[in-house]
Amino acid sequence: MTYREATDWGSRVLAQAGVADAKLDAWLLLETVCKINRTFYYSHLEEELAVEQQPEYEIAVRKRAERIPLQYITGEQEFMGLNFKVNSNVLVPRQDTEALVEEALKICQPDMKLLDLGTGSGCIIISLMKNAHGMEAVGSDISKQALLVAKENAKLHEVEVEWIRSNLYENINGRFDLIVSNPPYIPQADILDLMPEVRDFEPVGALDGGLDGLDFYRRIIAQSKDYLNKDGYLYLEIGYNQGPAVTNMMCAAGYREVSVVKDLARHERVVKGRI
Ligand code: GLN
Repeated sequence: MTYREATDWGSRVLAQAGVADAKLDAWLLLETVCKINRTFYYSHLEEELAVEQQPEYEIAVRKRAERIPLQYITGEQEFMGLNFKVNSNVLVPRQDTEALVEEALKICQPDMKLLDLGTGSGCIIISLMKNAHGMEAVGSDISKQALLVAKENAKLHEVEVEWIRSNLYENINGRFDLIVSNPPYIPQADILDLMPEVRDFEPVGALDGGLDGLDFYRRIIAQSKDYLNKDGYLYLEIGYNQGPAVTNMMCAAGYREVSVVKDLARHERVVKGRI
C-alpha cells in the first residue's frame, strides 16, 4: 500500500462510518503512525508504507471508524499552542476553553495562588502556569486516572502544580486568589444527542451537569467564598446558553464585576466575577 492508497482507503472507510472530517482524520492517523509530515507525504505519494506500518495504520483507521475520538487514538491534542497527552479518562481539551485561559491570563500576577477544579488533562492550569510566572497552583479532580494524565502533562511542560484528588473542594485546604473551572455542564437529557465520539467515548463524569446542566455551578459558587481570598476571582467556563443563569448565581452569591465573555465563535463561554 502506498501513502496515497493509504489515505484514499482511510478516507473512504471513515466517510462510510459517518466521520465528519474523514479525509483530514485519515491523513492525521497516517501522520501519527508513520511519523511523517505533509511535505514528506506529497513527495512520497507513490512509495510504499513500511511493512509494519500498514497493519498499524489499518488498526488506527478501524478504531476511528468505530467513532473513537481521533485524539484518543493519536494520544494527543493541541491546546493554547501546547501539546497535551490525552486518553479516554479525560475530556479532550476544546478550543472553546482557550477563552477561559486567555481571560484568566489577563489578571494573573506573580504570587497569586490558583485552583483548578476538575482539571482533567490539566490543560487549563498548565497553560496558565506556562504563560504567567511566579504563581502557585493546585489542580484537583475526582478521578485518579485523570490526575495521572494531568501529572504527565505538567511534567512534559515543566510546570509545578500540586495535584489533589478531590470531589470539588472536599480535600482542598487554604485560600486562593483565582479559582478556575470548566465543570461538566451538559444537561443530562442532552447527552444522548451528542456526537457518538463524545457520547460513547468521552468520560460521562466530565460531561454530565445534572438535570439542568447547572449542578456544578451551584456547588462551586456556593462554597467558593470559603476558598477565595478577599478580592479573589472566580472564572467559569459555561455552555453557550448558561450565561444568564450562572451570572445570576454569582451575583446572588455576592460576586461583583460579574460579566460574560464570548469565545471566538461568538458564543458566551466564560462567566467571571470577583468576591
Ligand atoms: N478542565 C478540563 C478541560 O477543560 C476538563 C474539564 C472537564 O472534564 N469537564 O478540558
